[in-house]
Amino acid sequence: DEESTQSQTDVLIIGAGPSGLTAAYWMARYGVNARIIDKRDTKVFLGHADGLRPRTLELFDSMGFQHRVIQEGCISTEANIWVPGPQGDIIRQAQIDICRVDESPFLNTCLNQGRIERFILDSIREHSDLDVERSVIADSLEYDEELSNDPNSYPITVKVRVLGEDDSNQPCGHGSEAASNIVNRSNLLPDDLADLAPRKKPQKTQVETIKAKYLIGCDGAHSWTRKQLNIPVEGSNTDHIWGVIDVIPLSDFPDIRRVSVVNNAAGTILVIPRERGLVRFYVPVQTCEAGATDRFDRSKITRELICSRMQAILAPFTFDFKECSWWTVYQVGQRIAAKSTKDNRIFLAGDAVHTHSPKMGLGMNMSMQDGFNVGWKIALAVAGTLKPEILETYASERHPLAEMLLDFDRHWSPMFNDRKPEVADTKSSEIALVAAKFEDFADGWKVFYPASRLVWKAEDNAGFSCARHMIPGERVRPVKLRNQADGGTLWTTRVLESDGPFRILILAGDIRNPMQKQRLGTLARVSAGQSGSSISPLSRYLEIPGRFKSPVDVLTIHASPWKEVELFDFPEILRPFDSVKGWAYDKIWCDDACMFDRYCDGTAYEKWGVDRVLGALVVVRPDQYIGWVGELGDVEELTQYLDGILVKKSPTNGVHSAL
Ligand code: FAD
Repeated sequence: DEESTQSQTDVLIIGAGPSGLTAAYWMARYGVNARIIDKRDTKVFLGHADGLRPRTLELFDSMGFQHRVIQEGCISTEANIWVPGPQGDIIRQAQIDICRVDESPFLNTCLNQGRIERFILDSIREHSDLDVERSVIADSLEYDEELSNDPNSYPITVKVRVLGEDDSNQPCGHGSEAASNIVNRSNLLPDDLADLAPRKKPQKTQVETIKAKYLIGCDGAHSWTRKQLNIPVEGSNTDHIWGVIDVIPLSDFPDIRRVSVVNNAAGTILVIPRERGLVRFYVPVQTCEAGATDRFDRSKITRELICSRMQAILAPFTFDFKECSWWTVYQVGQRIAAKSTKDNRIFLAGDAVHTHSPKMGLGMNMSMQDGFNVGWKIALAVAGTLKPEILETYASERHPLAEMLLDFDRHWSPMFNDRKPEVADTKSSEIALVAAKFEDFADGWKVFYPASRLVWKAEDNAGFSCARHMIPGERVRPVKLRNQADGGTLWTTRVLESDGPFRILILAGDIRNPMQKQRLGTLARVSAGQSGSSISPLSRYLEIPGRFKSPVDVLTIHASPWKEVELFDFPEILRPFDSVKGWAYDKIWCDDACMFDRYCDGTAYEKWGVDRVLGALVVVRPDQYIGWVGELGDVEELTQYLDGILVKKSPTNGVHSAL
């Protein structure tokens, strides 16, 4: 007994976990006609992923809610390794610093996935009417390959079911969690309570046929979308079963509030301190028969069993708890999908592409970064502003990282599985060595995005010499800058907001130097299209409808002392006037030391490898990665770069360039 309807949308996202929500963030920012569905009837509230890497926090800062994580989360600054001692006890073998203050203002931080989902959902609501449609399950997928080359076509047809009251045996709600995980209201923060009440379900099942231009399958490790596309996965379950438990511990173990690996003959556990007095423990509970690929019988594993394993491994220290907020049991699987797109119309992101051991604390981070990478590209393509060919870069940029992730896991997971305890006097622990080997990748400092139309890597390396540490395909290394108008300071992660446009960074150098001021004036005239040149990157490309007149924005960062120049020393096009908002005070920034903020130390140019007098030009993509680097006057090559990505205004698309 069903009701059936039909509809169209530009983008359909299946799955509202971390990857789906991050992709949806971009739909909200660009004002794209999109929908996001999830078969669960509520968001995640407790447990699940909890480790946030510094790079993810940099992205959160650019999305506007990093401060909420810092307020609620628990930072980890070091990792401790415990091994058996000479007296049958356990001793601390190593204390390893895991924060790199020279790399990022943010530290490894733990906060449960449910709160991260809360922050992204709030941001989506702040910028649009887009909302997750819950208790909606994707049921069938048809794809018309013949339409794939026409960007305005709707080659994708997905039939979805809005689960009704008679669908009581559907896998929604908390079906995937352990039976004990019934959410207790007292464990929730007030802003999550409204989401706790399951929505009113229709009496009859409703079926809807949705036609879409693009589909993003963010539907997790057992991805339905991936199965519909017959994309094979490589890899398998490992033999090891782990318990995960979030409790308020009652223990005299000295490092109970510090990240620790405790490694003794009874097994290896991982200790992760969390928000609100909670600590998460990863505990080995069982080993399947070697090579077993079937899922294990989880009913045999109880909270009490996990607790007794903990007590054995932590002995002679004590361990117990009264309050448990969440627990589950899992079998580690290491799998990667053979590919992550079908014709660049259907994409897979997050766990749908890669799964591995949660003990690396990377799945949610990588999944959100997948959603972040694919989301802006699809949204801009739908807006008609981005050339559809650019969508190829999702797979070329993210798939190699999925492979790297699995490689890391293959090295990392065995550290926790039935291994002989490390000897107490070993100077350098094996775990520390593996962590160090993959640190740049895991923390997100290096992403290794290869050369493409989006990542301009000049063969002769020209450009690199004027900004030696601004590498196309890498992130902008965060620095703190001073606003020229009000003197306040901000990290570049916030200055370069993830709000939509590409950003040309004019690193103007020292404009007290008359020659340099003249160069800046020439650059400004060229940018405005006033110098007889036909190049004006600011008015050349199609707008983002309803959001931005141009998909390209400009920020100026100069290296003169803050007190020795004025906002009005800069050409007007760099700080344009709006009849309602006045001058654009947020467009001119200064790299100078600031007496009230020691992080704003006037070393941005040095960290970026840029000459303080001559400056440089840099293009930052909407997702905060560097796309192109050149000299201050190099507008022609910069425009070539943007021409390869963005759709120009022309009589054929109904818009004449301002030139
Ligand atoms: P998911 O979070 O799995 O979301 C997929 C969504 O799709 C679900 O909400 C599901 O209901 C929906 N869906 C599926 N099929 C359909 C369908 N047919 N129709 C409609 N909706 C559908 N990662 C870290 O980075 N750090 C950590 O510390 C960490 N710890 C972890 C600890 C544990 C115990 C576990 C289990 C995982 C941990 N992870 C961690 C991994 C992390 O949880 C995942 O990598 C992350 O949730 C993946 O996000 P996703 O959006 O790709 O998929």
